[in-house]
Amino acid sequence: MKHVYLDHSATTKMSSSVIKAMIDSFNFGANPSSLHKDGQAARRLIEKARKDVSDLINAEADEIIFTSGATESNNTVIGIAETLINQSNNELNLVVSSIEHPSVLEPAKKLRKSGITVHYIPVDRNCRIDMAALKQVLDEKKTALVSVMAANNETGTIQEIEEITRLAHASGALMHADIVQAAGKIPLDIKKLGADYASLSAHKINGPKGIGALYVRKNAPFYPFMLGGHQENGLRATTYNTQGIIGFGQASKDAANNIEEYKANIEPLKNCLRDWITLNIPAVSVNGDQTNNLPNVLNVSFAGAEGESILLALDNNGIEVSTGSACASGDTKPSHVLMAMKADPELAHGSVRFSFGLENTMEDVECVMRFLPKIVKELRSISTVEVNGE
Ligand code: PMP
Repeated sequence: MKHVYLDHSATTKMSSSVIKAMIDSFNFGANPSSLHKDGQAARRLIEKARKDVSDLINAEADEIIFTSGATESNNTVIGIAETLINQSNNELNLVVSSIEHPSVLEPAKKLRKSGITVHYIPVDRNCRIDMAALKQVLDEKKTALVSVMAANNETGTIQEIEEITRLAHASGALMHADIVQAAGKIPLDIKKLGADYASLSAHKINGPKGIGALYVRKNAPFYPFMLGGHQENGLRATTYNTQGIIGFGQASKDAANNIEEYKANIEPLKNCLRDWITLNIPAVSVNGDQTNNLPNVLNVSFAGAEGESILLALDNNGIEVSTGSACASGDTKPSHVLMAMKADPELAHGSVRFSFGLENTMEDVECVMRFLPKIVKELRSISTVEVNGE
């Protein structure tokens, strides 16, 4: 059976160049904080990786802090906001979009429970931030930090981070962008975007899991999330993850070198599958803004068919997809992103995310075309929902 992996937004497999760089790095086993020669040799590799990660987003190397992943990076930033808001005696508030990743939404919820005001900015039906609602909140000039993701992990919708940052700064707020899904997929220039903080993750760009980074603009306020060591200039304690950092550096370098090729190779596959599905399967809707979208994410709802049932049936035929982050975690609630987009709950339950990556080919798309219509038709035949055209 052909094996087709279309779940690259969940994670990517490590590329051969990353694996090689990491294997080579095992020869550098000393603690990079040690002052002896072996320690300093490991340290040099870490600093080279830091430069490669910073180059991916046009940052300065000393603006990159390595973390255990974007979850930690996001938690760190919401923690910074919490400190600033506490210092204002809770006069200031936090602004997040309603489609953020749970690693922003959950710490934000914790702040809300502690008595801090959190504003959730809605999105439109295409998953784009409601700029009027954002402006209205920011006009009060009471916001400590705005957190909006550059591209959504479920729908691929790209937000106007430059404009959102401009509005945030005009109101005196700091700006955080979760750029996990956008980095390496579309060109990003953090200086142009203007954000004060940005979260990155290696495993979304063919790097290893368990390593990420937080971009912190020079002179932006910072309060460490992890205490107990002087690593990362005292900004994040714990012994350096040498292998992970080196793998992340290599993945960033490869992603920066291939960014145009990435779009040129992957977007036609996604567009082909999207157009084919909308033409050949009745009662489907494509979720997310299709003009401002990542080259690799396609989210489609199939009326009268459960997303999870489609996922399992595709899996039985060698095709691996996802239903969006909420369902993937065993939570059967419809995705908070699709609900924020005011999708019909029935359709939200029937959503499937196909996310492409470097190894995909047109043959993979053809494989989906071969199995998907039959799977959807069968599921609809046992559904209580009546579907026109099927
Ligand atoms: N933010 C977004 C948008 C993501 O897609 C993910 C991963 N699903 C994360 C944050 C968390 O990243 P990590 O796995 O590195 O903690």
